[in-house]
Amino acid sequence: MTFNTTDLTIVNAQIPDRSGLWNIGIAQAQIIDISPAIAPEAPAVEIIDAGGRLVISGLVDAHFHLDKALLLDRYPAQEGNFAEAMRETLRLKQSFTVEDIQSRARQMIERAIAFGITAMRSHVEVDPIVGLTGMEALLPLRTEYAWGMTLQLAVFAQEGMTPATEKLLRQAMAMGGDVIGSAPYVDADPERNVQIIFDIAQDFDCDVDFHLDFLDDSEPLLVPFVIQETVKRGWQGRVCLGHMTKLAALEPGELAAIAPALRAAGISVLALPASDLYMMSRQDTHNVRRGVAPVHQLAELGVNVGLATNNVMNLFTPFGDGDVLKICMLLAQVLQMGTIASHQLCLRMATTQAARAIGIETYGVEVGKTADLVILDARSVSEAIASPVGRTVIKQGKVVASSRLESQLYREHHR
Ligand SMILES: [Zn+2]
Repeated sequence: MTFNTTDLTIVNAQIPDRSGLWNIGIAQAQIIDISPAIAPEAPAVEIIDAGGRLVISGLVDAHFHLDKALLLDRYPAQEGNFAEAMRETLRLKQSFTVEDIQSRARQMIERAIAFGITAMRSHVEVDPIVGLTGMEALLPLRTEYAWGMTLQLAVFAQEGMTPATEKLLRQAMAMGGDVIGSAPYVDADPERNVQIIFDIAQDFDCDVDFHLDFLDDSEPLLVPFVIQETVKRGWQGRVCLGHMTKLAALEPGELAAIAPALRAAGISVLALPASDLYMMSRQDTHNVRRGVAPVHQLAELGVNVGLATNNVMNLFTPFGDGDVLKICMLLAQVLQMGTIASHQLCLRMATTQAARAIGIETYGVEVGKTADLVILDARSVSEAIASPVGRTVIKQGKVVASSRLESQLYREHHR
């Protein structure tokens, strides 16, 4: 027990992987002490009594698209399929302005902070259609909202790789992009697409993020090539892969054969169940396959895995509100994760493991970690992911948001 004065102490907290109640001392935006709640409290400037509620690491939305969120009122789905989503989102993108993107992104960022999402990686589309408008819109918001959320901007080629696109990607990185990525599946030569992205990553010394092995066609997996390039370029620990729906179609032995190479290359895999459940297996007429990356099995094989929202209220995902805790519940249902241990894994996939996937190693309810925390109105991890709950959000040791679920019963009206 240390008795350094803390800026904030959370008392009587439950912590996901510990039993009993704990006091968490925070100073200079870091967790400096975790002691049993029965011990005398260190002097604190501010005390929050968690009253036995669960304190978790800040939620992380490791894969989001701020620039194309909330487009559904502009074009509600008519066909409700992937071809329409690509075609019509491309058309809508032609009229994006800085103000338009900022107004939708602000709504999503402010919601995210209230949900307890203290870090987010947003992909930002850059191509000859939208130019650098997305970067111009989102770069100022990264600074403006730093009080509540760490926002990473992943410069993203959604429409394929051309010389004009590559030039724009490099300009976007020079403007201040954090990460480079693409969707190689849209290109006739996906391997060339991957190589160009790694070339840019090496030139700008940045991490890489691919939308990979998406869809459920019979095209071969691209992940072996990405693993090979990761190792060849010395980019171990710096590559994150989203979707990976094709892994759902592998036999257990085939999945087990890929996992050691992913683990050795330090490549993280993110499941995006809200989007993938909606888009995959459309040719199935009955007993429809799920098409969600088997991240629970990859976790058992030692791969760093996470989950994320991807899209909210657009043609790729015409539902959702941006609460990554609801994605935890969805993933647990879809991958049939019912035990306490698997619920804990689910929560880690939305916090510490998602953080690691986007290069943040300082997350966790542990001494020495960043004081980005959420106090949930829940008594256990299972309760936390069972239903959306009220929360108090702490960013860098300061309370930045709170939300409560309220309901009223009017029994007296029925006497
Ligand atoms: Zn995406």
